[in-house]
Amino acid sequence: MSGFTPPPYGVFSRPGEAPRVGVKVGDAVLDLAAALGDDVFAAPSLNPFLALGRPVWQAVHERVRAALADGAETIPLAEVRSHLPFEVADYVDFYCSLEHASNLGRMFRPDEEPLKPNWRHLPVGYHGRAGTVVVSGSPIRRPSGQRAPGPEFGPSRKLDIEVELGFVVGAPTELGERAGSFEDHVFGVVLVNDWSARDIQAWEYVPLGPFLGKSFATSVSAWVVPLEALAHARVPGREQDPEPLDYLRRSAPWGLDLEFEVTLNGQVISRPPYRGMYWTPDQMLAHMTVNGASLRTGDLFASGTVSGTEPDQRGSLIEISWNGAEPLKLTDGSTRAFLEDGDTVTITATAPGPGGERIDLGEVTGTVR
Ligand code: CA
Repeated sequence: MSGFTPPPYGVFSRPGEAPRVGVKVGDAVLDLAAALGDDVFAAPSLNPFLALGRPVWQAVHERVRAALADGAETIPLAEVRSHLPFEVADYVDFYCSLEHASNLGRMFRPDEEPLKPNWRHLPVGYHGRAGTVVVSGSPIRRPSGQRAPGPEFGPSRKLDIEVELGFVVGAPTELGERAGSFEDHVFGVVLVNDWSARDIQAWEYVPLGPFLGKSFATSVSAWVVPLEALAHARVPGREQDPEPLDYLRRSAPWGLDLEFEVTLNGQVISRPPYRGMYWTPDQMLAHMTVNGASLRTGDLFASGTVSGTEPDQRGSLIEISWNGAEPLKLTDGSTRAFLEDGDTVTITATAPGPGGERIDLGEVTGTVR
């Protein structure tokens, strides 16, 4: 399969037809149920295929390559609707960027050390709400709740984005069993926008962590990029000090040299680099399962906000506008501290490909209603 980059997998439908599995090839979709004939691709989600594990995934990538080489007919992307590509089992969100965690620590707890003592010893995370993960393009309703300084009820005035990379689990484990390697279980990646209401979050998060300020919607890209497509993006993870405990030791390079781009109403506002993330996804998976918690097909775990060291590499508006103190100036003359109704945020990303070109990792977009 050398030189072939497996295309991303998703679920699509044409008007009046049932959703089914396809791969996105440029501006077209290859209908896998029709092209390969397997029943798993007639399902309205990727889950039956995801459950089969890496040897089968790789065999299917090869069959896709052969079908395309044979000139299999495709459907123009413009004629189809994309659906949520997989049924989300559990959703976990981490906090793996040293820069993002430090920036938020400085803003939320200005009188303390920015990082809590545990942060360099384990990838901090929480369990999110799987049922409110939505596909790219879904409208985002501004949430209401108790706002800081509480208790005061009303629509969030600090609606924000979080630029993240999400990892999609295919092969499950039994309860009590330790997970195998990252590549045994994780099928691929999606782009994630973890919409966040900062005023709700700031009041509610003590002492148990994020809750309603995060659970109203999380958007994911419609097409899941298989790990095989990221072969040329893999780099050693960022150096860690102190050395993590044994179960968190890295056994393979799972740092990823991905570049994100964030646009607000069509204007680029940030370019966060994934490469500098402190915790790598193999460490996230090891930590998430070290207590015997089982994996289910369709589990989604996300990296946490990707922020780089530079101001134009920050992955959230709260960092870009420094909690509203330095509003962003847009080219239409308006300013933004946080999102206004009607604002559209689109996140795209690319990865290095086999011949030095960049591979498009798709997009996740949403408009605030
Ligand atoms: Ca997040």
